[in-house]
Amino acid sequence: ADMAMYAAKASGGNEVRFFEGEMQARVSARASMESRLRIAIENGDLVLHYQPQCRFADGKLVGAEALVRWQDGAHMIRPDQFIGLAEETGLIVPLGRWVIDSAVEQLARWQSSCVDTLRVSINLSPRQFLRHSVEMDVLAAIARHGVLASRVELEVTESVLFNPEGAALRMLNNLREAGCRVALDDFGTGYSSLSYLQSLDLDCLKIDKSFVANLAGPAGSHGARGSTAIVSAMIVLGRRLGYEVVAEGVETVEQFNWLKATGCELCQGYFFSRPLPAAEFESGFLTLRAGSSSNAAPARAF
Ligand code: C2E
Ligand code: MG
Ligand code: MG
Ligand code: MG
Repeated sequence: ADMAMYAAKASGGNEVRFFEGEMQARVSARASMESRLRIAIENGDLVLHYQPQCRFADGKLVGAEALVRWQDGAHMIRPDQFIGLAEETGLIVPLGRWVIDSAVEQLARWQSSCVDTLRVSINLSPRQFLRHSVEMDVLAAIARHGVLASRVELEVTESVLFNPEGAALRMLNNLREAGCRVALDDFGTGYSSLSYLQSLDLDCLKIDKSFVANLAGPAGSHGARGSTAIVSAMIVLGRRLGYEVVAEGVETVEQFNWLKATGCELCQGYFFSRPLPAAEFESGFLTLRAGSSSNAAPARAF
């Protein structure tokens, strides 16, 4: 800040005071958000919402992605507003630990009362792999709540693979060896090189919602042609590598039908449901087991 101010002063003019004021406002807004987030983590003001992942073929529920929200008094803050800050400040470590433990705990509850095949997907930031063993957090949660590791999926983005000394790769491979699933999130939006696909073994590719959104572009437009080509190539690539392919951000019946016909396996998006609080997810998508091994309720009838 000092350097910036010096530079601003050096360039002279009346802009200095404005610049200074704006800087200060931004810095203090950030600092206050940081301390509010720290308190929210300590007070348990975070909640997880769950978004169903269903099979295209029959609409059956397969899993749920856990998505964090910050319940700040009367209003709910979306992760896009605070995950970046949490990453920069290191708060992502305690936040992430809470997410991991809560999602696995919820999974244990659902497995014993509803569906024992249900999976939960948990998002992990690159920072959680840095000087911190997220591997232990995941394994500890699995042991504490007594779930099968194979029901826990970890979602990472391509950027995680670029962390120093390959620590993230090592941890992800260890977690896979312990039975966890690893999904590559936002596929296609990160680095352009596909070579990393050779260094990390995955279970699942998640096609980023920006590609899915463009499938609905004006017929014959470059955007629509481009995204149908890209998405069908991604589906083929994923399947050839032996991965399950998930389309995220599926909103319309047209997108749903096209993806289904093109061979995509799992569907996630508003078409089925928005992310829901646990109780609503349960009443909408799970049926309580009446003794026997009844399965998940079909999400929709086709
Ligand atoms: P993501 O992991 O790619 O999650 C998918 C996002 O797409 C979610 O946004 C979800 O609500 C949204 N979405 C789902 N279906 C649709 C749809 O049909 N249309 C549209 N337009 N959007 C849809 P959300 O919940 O706001 O989360 C945003 C991002 O924040 C996530 O993207 C993830 O990167 C991050 N995030 C969320 N929870 C966590 C967490 O617990 N830990 C970490 N490290 N990151 C998280
Ligand atoms: Mg995700
Ligand atoms: Mg995503
Ligand atoms: Mg994302």
